Amino acid sequence: MEKETNSFQFVEKPAVEEVSCDILILGGGMSGAGAAFEAVRWANPKNLKVVLVDKAAVERSGAVAQGLSAINTYIGDNDPMDYVRMVRSDLMGITREDLTWDLARVVDDSVDLFEEWGLPIWKKDAEGHSMDGIAARNAGMGSLKDGAMPVRSGKWQIMINGESYKAIVGEVAKKALELNKAATGMAENLYERVFCTRLLMDSNEPNRVAGAIGFSTRENKVYVFKANTVLNGSGGAVNVFRPRSVGEGMGRAWFPVWNSGSGYAMGIQAGAELTLMENRFVPMRFKDGYGPVGAWFLFFKAQATNALGEDYCVKHADIIHEQFAPYDNPMGTNLRNHAAMIEMKAGNGPIMMHTDKAMAKLAETMDEKALKHLEAEAWEDFLDMTIAQAGLWAANDVEPDKVPSELMPSEPYLLGSHAGCAGFWVSGPGDIPGAPEEWSWGYNRMSTVNGLFMSGDVVGASGHKFSSGSHAEGRIAGKMMVSWCLDHEGYTPAVKESVDDLVAEMYAPLELYAKYNSYTTAPKNIDVNPNYISPRMLQFRLMKIMDEYVGGCSTWYTTSGTLLAEGLRKLDILKEDAARLAASDLHELLRCWENYHRIWAAEAHARHINFREETRYPGYYYRGDFPVVDDENWKCFTNSKYNLESNTWEHKKVPYVELVAAPTPA
Ligand SMILES: Cc1cc2nc3c(=O)[nH]c(=O)nc-3n(C[C@H](O)[C@H](O)[C@H](O)COP(=O)(O)OP(=O)(O)OC[C@H]3O[C@@H](n4cnc5c(N)ncnc54)[C@H](O)[C@@H]3O)c2cc1C
Repeated sequence: MEKETNSFQFVEKPAVEEVSCDILILGGGMSGAGAAFEAVRWANPKNLKVVLVDKAAVERSGAVAQGLSAINTYIGDNDPMDYVRMVRSDLMGITREDLTWDLARVVDDSVDLFEEWGLPIWKKDAEGHSMDGIAARNAGMGSLKDGAMPVRSGKWQIMINGESYKAIVGEVAKKALELNKAATGMAENLYERVFCTRLLMDSNEPNRVAGAIGFSTRENKVYVFKANTVLNGSGGAVNVFRPRSVGEGMGRAWFPVWNSGSGYAMGIQAGAELTLMENRFVPMRFKDGYGPVGAWFLFFKAQATNALGEDYCVKHADIIHEQFAPYDNPMGTNLRNHAAMIEMKAGNGPIMMHTDKAMAKLAETMDEKALKHLEAEAWEDFLDMTIAQAGLWAANDVEPDKVPSELMPSEPYLLGSHAGCAGFWVSGPGDIPGAPEEWSWGYNRMSTVNGLFMSGDVVGASGHKFSSGSHAEGRIAGKMMVSWCLDHEGYTPAVKESVDDLVAEMYAPLELYAKYNSYTTAPKNIDVNPNYISPRMLQFRLMKIMDEYVGGCSTWYTTSGTLLAEGLRKLDILKEDAARLAASDLHELLRCWENYHRIWAAEAHARHINFREETRYPGYYYRGDFPVVDDENWKCFTNSKYNLESNTWEHKKVPYVELVAAPTPA
């Protein structure tokens, strides 16, 4: 089929507004909000302009949008080195320990700020009883900063009344931006409902970012943002793989469905180096509702077993040790998935979490009032984060305090801040003992593209940051971006790309739809038309390819060199066909671009799995042709880089260096 070009014959050209600033933040999620807050502190005295762009509304955007019940990274009295050890162990022995160590020393400061800004944090009273955040506040228990004891749901997690967590953090970021606006005299510096499609590169300096381009999802307008430095904090990727819930349940996934891989796609096309992009996260959650299990496992001490009541982790400990030692002690998230999958494949499912027994056990030591309170908290855990889980249980006559509830491993997601570590290779802080010199190139959290910083889910090789860590990482990047501006004073962005061409490319789906939709008499938004493909149908194709060839649920997460070769061939064709995406309105234009970005994230993931010839993450994915961990050849980072001009990928191994020794056995 002939390649279409958009000459705006069928749709109106959008207005193009240019916005100039010093610091541009893409994404107002946890990390972007942290970056805005911190950057403004240092930028205001220097009269530097800070702009934040988000495709949604910062108050309720990103992975934390609906709220959380626990902050998963709080060091407190723990040894920060144990945190590094835990992260390394859960990620099968490979993590950038300089980044993790660096985070451990600052993350609590973000948590202290959250509390100062109004987030209620649970506390232990003098007798060691737990009080929820509001009760603790009403009882005048003081703040964590003043020495009050948090309630831990696990070694690193603390409980919060978190339904308005993102609103609190977002509000502060917005306030900071307002202060920056007042200090610098900018007319506007917060652009919500603007979807960024690409980073802009500098025409004079190779490998230097100069800004970004995006379109309004509400009006016929394109924004060209020009900046001295850019932060990419636009989150991870969901719905790259076919979800378990299809059709009527299509909107349900563990990862909130609006994170569509933009962070990966924009960085890849800018030529930023990736690391460990083969890694993925497959959370084991309550079936179909994806309700959180963390509090049940860690706080209520619920046990998960196969249908015969056997603890599958204990049952398969020996064989897992034989195949995957030393990474089985302690058994990390993916290995616990692996043990459950052995049972499921043997027909010993469903896997059940014994929520009923956990509650009965707690009843042995608690009075009725305390138990009722705990039960209410357990419900709140779902109402905070995954309200659909409560609905689903009700629909299936499941009362989790009376009967066990089914668990299921989800479809894979790509992210770098939860229990996964797919993302970009960034500069470390440079002062961590033993870290190789080449791991730091002057600006902490800057990617291999000059001026382009990364934070949160898009940073690779440093998982387990979670919400607090992502915020703290955004703050690190925000501060370093001010440094960058001061060191590069007088820089004037000269955009390499033709803005006219980019605008035409951006709006091509609208033009294509307007040109061809009368080809059929079928109603608006029809999925089938020989001249174009709707975003919905393209997404189905992407998810099918990934599911069947790149190790999704339908193959029990198994793939191989031959399957990947075919998957990559099909992705190439899909990429070609993506030039025929059509949108009937601005909302569908957003859907087109989300899917286009997903394809980039998907391709990087498939290429990385293909490069790493071992099964490093059993329980997340399996290479059928290389079924075991091969430390001798693959205990290393796997980095890659895409070259937009030549349309080629380069892959290489980067040596892993251990910075924190295992504790000396007693
Ligand atoms: C289901 C789930 C449960 C979790 N539970 C917990 C928990 O209990 N405790 C905990 O501490 N952490 C938890 N986390 C982790 C935490 O949510 C993440 O670590 C954190 O949100 C990552 O921050 P981020 O800034 O990288 O991404 P996000 O917070 O997801 O923000 C990304 C931002 O980028 C914007 N964006 C995306 N694409 C574009 C584009 N093209 N143009 C403009 N803007 C764009 C989005 O709108 C969003 O605002 C959970 C995560 C998930 C997914």
